[in-house]
Formats: sequence, structure tokens, C-alpha cells
Amino acid sequence: MSHNATESVESFRARARTWLAENMPRLGDRPQSGTGEDDTHEWERARELQQRLYAGGFAGICFPEEYGGLGLSSAHQEAFTEESGGYEMPLLLNVPSFAICSATLLDTGSEEQKRARIGAAIRGEEVLCQLLSEPSGGSDLAGLITRAERDGDEWVLNGAKTWSTSAYAADWSLCLARTNWDVPKHQGLTMFLVPLKAPGLTLNRVRMVNGSLEFCEEFFDDVRLPASAVVGEVDGGWTVASRQLFHERNAVGGGSPYVSGEGGMRATPHPNPLDMARASGRAADPRVRELVGEYLALKTVHEQTVGRVTRAMATEVLPPAASSLLRLLHAEYAHLSDDHTVRIAGAGIATGAGTEPGATGYAATGFLMRQGVSLGGGSTEIARNIVSERLLGMPREPAPDRGVPFNQVKRGS
Ligand SMILES: Cc1cc2nc3c(=O)[nH]c(=O)nc-3n(C[C@H](O)[C@H](O)[C@H](O)COP(=O)(O)OP(=O)(O)OC[C@H]3O[C@@H](n4cnc5c(N)ncnc54)[C@H](O)[C@@H]3O)c2cc1C
Repeated sequence: MSHNATESVESFRARARTWLAENMPRLGDRPQSGTGEDDTHEWERARELQQRLYAGGFAGICFPEEYGGLGLSSAHQEAFTEESGGYEMPLLLNVPSFAICSATLLDTGSEEQKRARIGAAIRGEEVLCQLLSEPSGGSDLAGLITRAERDGDEWVLNGAKTWSTSAYAADWSLCLARTNWDVPKHQGLTMFLVPLKAPGLTLNRVRMVNGSLEFCEEFFDDVRLPASAVVGEVDGGWTVASRQLFHERNAVGGGSPYVSGEGGMRATPHPNPLDMARASGRAADPRVRELVGEYLALKTVHEQTVGRVTRAMATEVLPPAASSLLRLLHAEYAHLSDDHTVRIAGAGIATGAGTEPGATGYAATGFLMRQGVSLGGGSTEIARNIVSERLLGMPREPAPDRGVPFNQVKRGS
């Protein structure tokens, strides 16, 4: 099918509505999954659904045509997302594969990297993940110690990464490593495209408190990479990482144009206070109504703020650092939603009633991951620092390593 980049949003919406009804499975036709241990079938399913979208001409809506997308606007994407609400969509691929990694490659990758990796992701053939955080800490990202050293035309990677979402299901990663120890920390980093199956790369899955094995840790022992693996410039990795963090905060905050379909990273039901009020039969209780009202008010503020800040960044009224506003508000909203859901559920949540799939969904297991939203995409405290320093112009926090060559910076290990 050929696409017309000038197609109106309404014409695109109408075409999408017809196509979705004829080609995509309706939600509810298939049992919903939880946070089970072996989710291989979920990833296979996501790739298969993405392949359907691609074959139907509805994949990569905001990615340029030369890299396999449709080259359409975020308004087209929003229309498609609204229309696809009642259908099973490959939501697992949204974050980080499309909204963070492919978006970053689009901004900073070579032509070859963009054609190969973005194209394969849009066709549903490959998945990307991000390897940034290290066991020594994630907030001070520029202080990372995984090293890449030149050996002839190749690079040799050694070190460790952790908390990498869905790396076990991915084919390629964006991996930040130190390539120069003689300059201040931000100036000695390089971003690499690393295949997860590279010889010398060991990947372990990490069990979370809710039983999920979604996170991974990776160890690099003399992993050899070609010169073409460098994304952007050698020692220019902070520029790439900054773009990646921008896309991550945008994605986590709900403002990414590269997300297709509604829902979180996982296609698991996550009840909100309104669902819980109805499911528990307490919707008439004045105290419950107050909690639901508070939730709905913040939900509206969140949605309005996403639209306003996203438009302001697109028109450069606000700098990219404003994505931290979205990231921050999303955590506040998600915390209030989880907390009020648990308050309304009452003792039922402890006895397991709230953990059943269906109307009440996975309220208890969802609550166990409450803190995740204030860490993923950079922590809430770091988001507050960015807002205060880069948007409000407040003084920068003291940093004893500022301007100091990294090999002279005191470190714990
Ligand atoms: C759901 C989720 C998904 C994730 N996905 C990925 C992924 O795909 N790839 C990846 O690389 N990482 C990923 N992460 C890791 C995430 O980026 C880190 O958890 C985050 O950057 C914080 O790093 P840390 O956990 O090492 O905490 P630390 O950096 O050790 O921080 C510990 C605490 O100290 C606070 N703190 C640190 N420095 C300051 C400061 N200067 N001022 C004030 N407070 C400070 C932090 O806010 C935090 O509360 C994910 C995390 C979560 C929860």
C-alpha cells in the first residue's frame, strides 16, 4: 500500500478504523497475561502484531518513509491510537524499542544504522533496548565505568550494566561506555549499538518483588565491536545519551509521538481508583467518591499538561529539559492512582481479592511496583533537579567532579 504524506487526519482515521476492524484481534478475545515468568509467547505475539501493522501500512506512523515509516504527524498517530483502543496492539514494543531507542537513532544514528535498525523494528523483525545504568549507580549516568578500548579498527567492551528493561527479548541495544578517561566525565563517553547475542556478553534476568523477570543485567567480557557500531561521534556519547534521556522522559511522561496504542509497557490490567470503586461496590461511599474525584482531577491535569508541554517543546517555547516536567507529573499521578486504588480496595487487596484478573485487575502486584515510576527514566529527585536548574534557573547543585579529568575523580570502586 502506498501512503500519502498529505493525507488528512480524518481520512487516515477512517481508513485505520476499517483496517483495524478487519485485521486486528479485538481485546478480550484472548486471555490477558500477568507478570508471569516465561513471557516468550507475549514477545512473539508482539512481533507478529507489529508485522500485521506493517503489512497493513499502519506501522511507524511518525517515522520517516525512508526508514520504513509513514512520515505522518503526531496528530495522525493520536488518531490511530484512539481508534486502536479496542484492539490488541504490540504495546510491548513501544517502550523502549520505538519511543526511546528508535527515536534516538533517528536523531543521532548514521544513515546505515537508521535504515537497518529502525527499518527492522518497524517491520516487527527486531527489538531494541537500552543499556545505560550500571551497578555503581544510574543517577550519575555520566560517571559510568564500563569501558570501550580501541583495538585496530575494532572496539573492545568490558564492564557491567543493570536494570535494562526487556533486554532478554531484544536483538540490539544502545550501550553507553567510557572511551576516554583523561577528560571530564561527560566528554569521554561513546554510544555503541551492541547486539545482545555478541560473543562475550552474558545476560541474566533479575527477579523483581512482584515476581516479574522483566529487568536484566549484562556483563561484557572482551566484547568486540566494529567501528560502525559507534552511534554519533567517538567521545560524543553524552550528546546521544541526552537525546535518549529526552525521549525516555517524554515516553515515560506520556508525550512520545512514537508510541502506538494505549497502555503501559506491559499489556497487564492495572486498575485505577474508579475501576476499584466500581469493582468493590463502594462507589456510593462519600469517602471513596472523594478519592476517585481527586484521581480524576489529577488525571485531567496530567493529560492537559502532556499536551501543553509537548506542544511547547515542539515549538521551542520550552527547552527539551521540559520533558522532566512530564516525567515528574507522571510519577505523581501514578503514585496517587496506585495509593487511592489500594485505599479503596481495603482489606480485599491483602486477602488476594484485588489480585484476580478482571475488573479489579492486578491491584496488589501493581502496587508492589509503585516505586518503579519514580526511578525509570531517571529518578524523581533528578527530575526535580533538572526542573529547578534548567527551567527555573536556580543555582546548580555542587559537583566536586565538574571539569576534573575522570581518571582523577575519587570513586568508591
Ligand atoms: C521501571 C524501570 C525501568 C528501567 N529501565 C532501564 C533501562 O531500560 N535501562 C537502563 O539502563 N536503566 C533502566 N532503569 C534504571 C533507572 O534508570 C535507574 O534506576 C535510575 O536512573 C536511578 O539509578 P539507581 O537505581 O542506580 O539509583 P541511584 O542513582 O543509586 O540513586 C539512589 C537514590 O538517590 C537519589 N539521588 C541520586 N543522586 C541524587 C542527586 N544528585 N540529588 C538528589 N537525589 C539523588 C535518587 O533519586 C534515588 O532515590 C529502569 C528503572 C526502572 C525503575
